[in-house]
Amino acid sequence: MLNDSLEILKKIEKHGYKAYIVGGYVRDYFMKIKSYDVDICTNAKPKDLIKIFDNAILPKEKYGAVTIRHKGIRYEITTFRKELKYENRRPVEIEYTNELFEDIVRRDFTINSMCMDIDGNIIDLFDGKKDINKKIIKSLGNAKDKFYEDPLRILRAIRFATTLNFKLDKDVISGIKENAHYLKDISYDRKKIELNKIFASKNVKYGIKLIKSFNLDEYLELNLLKIKYTTDILGIWAQLDVLDKYPFTKIEIVSIKNILSIVENKTIGKYEIYKYGLYTTSIAAEILGINKNVIVRLERNLPIKSKKEINITTDEILKLLDKKPGNWISKLYEDLEVKIVTSKVKNNKEKIKEYILKNY
Ligand code: ATP
Ligand code: MG
Repeated sequence: MLNDSLEILKKIEKHGYKAYIVGGYVRDYFMKIKSYDVDICTNAKPKDLIKIFDNAILPKEKYGAVTIRHKGIRYEITTFRKELKYENRRPVEIEYTNELFEDIVRRDFTINSMCMDIDGNIIDLFDGKKDINKKIIKSLGNAKDKFYEDPLRILRAIRFATTLNFKLDKDVISGIKENAHYLKDISYDRKKIELNKIFASKNVKYGIKLIKSFNLDEYLELNLLKIKYTTDILGIWAQLDVLDKYPFTKIEIVSIKNILSIVENKTIGKYEIYKYGLYTTSIAAEILGINKNVIVRLERNLPIKSKKEINITTDEILKLLDKKPGNWISKLYEDLEVKIVTSKVKNNKEKIKEYILKNY
């Protein structure tokens, strides 16, 4: 992956520009952690980049990143910039620059400030390596100003502390305390991206402890009081009661609602597993403190996995009861479904017929 990424740098430099890998990839490389996305910064402008890469995707917003995909890896390429002025927590004046240094000083933390040149050398202008070795999240420049400019950085500090298991520097701690309330000015979209990374971390307990210790739960509008940690982040989101605030996909909304209705019922039996599926019931099981193996075993022993497996056809039912088709048929099937799933009736044609004759 490193060689492929350096190839991209070489390609940009062949056209007369400077280019560096920057941010998370360099941090993770130094820490020997696997990285998935690569951020690149360059003095080439987006209009230059689309000439260099025929598969380049231009950003939607002004000053956004150009994206390219190469051998399954996503590269986000941004042009060196200075952020001249912030208003209402947004950079309102941005200017492209020719200087790597100016692009680096606008970044958030020392551990994210390292870059790598075309030969694979790490350029470490702000002691990123030292702070990684000390396991500390340190602001690049005055933390109070950085967090005031963009309060999302508060959540990013906690995200990196959580995923890397680092401590927060003193200056970062006081900067968070002073600016925490500005988190309410940040879009739910941006906040959710960072929260997802905290919730998905093996070290989630530490992340939530940090969030609570600064009362960020209040500014993030999260109800973190009695949270049960789940391996799937949807389980955590389900407990936070924020469906009306944070953005979720339609599928996520359905899953969260289903998790909540199972949790409300407090028990998980064959019917819940049949109705909601193994994925959703397993998450609910974690919240309820039910052993996942129990759920897996129940699922494996379900008499049927879908309505289609019910061992009698509509024609057979009509013949058996000598009735005309109507709404009653689907009601009967629903009834059969429950009875078969809960093993009250065997999924055997004769047994089903016996049951129908007795009850309809
Ligand atoms: P990940 O491994 O999750 O991708 P990352 O550090 O690469 O972590 P990104 O969101 O991809 O994080 O951002 C890339 C780089 O851009 C960061 O390392 C940092 O240098 C800079 N950056 C990102 N967001 C901000 C911000 N809000 N303020 C200042 N610099 C930022
Ligand atoms: Mg990144």
